[in-house]
Amino acid sequence: MKITHQEMIQLSERLLAMEESATIAMSRKSRELKAEGKDIISLSLGEPDFFTPQFIKDAAVEAMENNFTMYTPVPGYDDLRESISLKFKRDNGLDYTKDQIVVSTGAKQSIANVVLSIVGPGDEVIVPAPYWVSYVEIVKVAEGTPVVINAGIENDFKINGKQLEAAITPKTKMLIFSTPCNPTGSVYTKEELKDLADVLKKYPHIVVISDEIYEHINFIGKHESLAQFPEVYNQVVTINGVSKAWAMTGWRLGYIGAPKVIADACNKVQGQFTSGTCSITQKAAIAAMKADPSVLKDMIAAFNNRRKLVLSALNEMPGVNANVPVGAFYVFPEISSFFGKSYNGFTVHNADDMCLYLLSEALVALVTGDAFGDPNCIRISYAASEETLTEAMKRIKEALAKLN
Ligand code: PMP
Ligand code: GLU
Repeated sequence: MKITHQEMIQLSERLLAMEESATIAMSRKSRELKAEGKDIISLSLGEPDFFTPQFIKDAAVEAMENNFTMYTPVPGYDDLRESISLKFKRDNGLDYTKDQIVVSTGAKQSIANVVLSIVGPGDEVIVPAPYWVSYVEIVKVAEGTPVVINAGIENDFKINGKQLEAAITPKTKMLIFSTPCNPTGSVYTKEELKDLADVLKKYPHIVVISDEIYEHINFIGKHESLAQFPEVYNQVVTINGVSKAWAMTGWRLGYIGAPKVIADACNKVQGQFTSGTCSITQKAAIAAMKADPSVLKDMIAAFNNRRKLVLSALNEMPGVNANVPVGAFYVFPEISSFFGKSYNGFTVHNADDMCLYLLSEALVALVTGDAFGDPNCIRISYAASEETLTEAMKRIKEALAKLN
């Protein structure tokens, strides 16, 4: 048999070891089903359903008209990094000078830059589960070894200093976590972060990626940053971006505040990989950085109402054990009581099966907890209108009630 040209191409081990992003795979699948005419409700992607505020779009138009259309400095325009520096001070009480800030094509790229700068073959990276899908895969691309520690629903999906210390070995190079957390919506308090900082300060070579992209989507008040503790400031990289709070997922801009040596390394990586992000996006982001975060209050109130709607619906579903998220726009309920139950010849053995079942029976797309390191849960993104959420919850309830 003749071997085709396609079959001759040998993909790298690195690529083969990498999983496709489950969040992106599920949203692609629901888009395909919708295109086939199926009435799918997709609660799979963590993407605000709001439009980018007009004042940000105006800044982009102005940038284009003023011909900001050429290559920019790799870590971002000076005035953008200055505005980020002021934002870090204003919102987080953090001191990052312009040369400690690197702007990239999204928080995802920022995380990849830092991991590629620090992690090498055999290095261990501690990742508390539930974790955001891409952390583990990015570590694998860098040929590092993810060391997953579990924070169960009984601990509000958060780890403590003791658990962290027990996972540290001489090979540990990094810790990656998010607060507010995707997929659980849990938010670390100042005391909980201090507990982690007290352990980390004993290991000053361990770099921590503190992913704070959901900073503004917080229903319990003030966001707390790990880098606020002087004893760990020199080992923490604070990640943020404009995708979530400013509804700018498609514009592609994230940034870090980091020890200068790490910022320089990311600058070098980026200088070879992307040359930095879009010039127009950068100018638009200055408007977002300078805006008073209180302009986000209506959006946060809308998310809070949706959160309450979804939680009260879940609480009325026997067998579903929902956590109470206080940030981001996800709920991560435990659904393991359904494992082993069947309907119409289909048995739900695990969270993957549950997502397949809900997709085919309820026409609702969610993401399996497996992708986030917790096989007993599923992730519901409530970044959708109340009307859509009400219908989705009704469908899920009916489908679950059929399982026995
Ligand atoms: N971190 C977390 C926790 C996320 O949920 C996401 C999803 N967008 C990202 C990083 C990546 O964000 P960006 O769109 O800025 O790449
Ligand atoms: N972060 C979002 C999510 O978790 C968007 C998808 C992605 O970037 O992977 O759904």
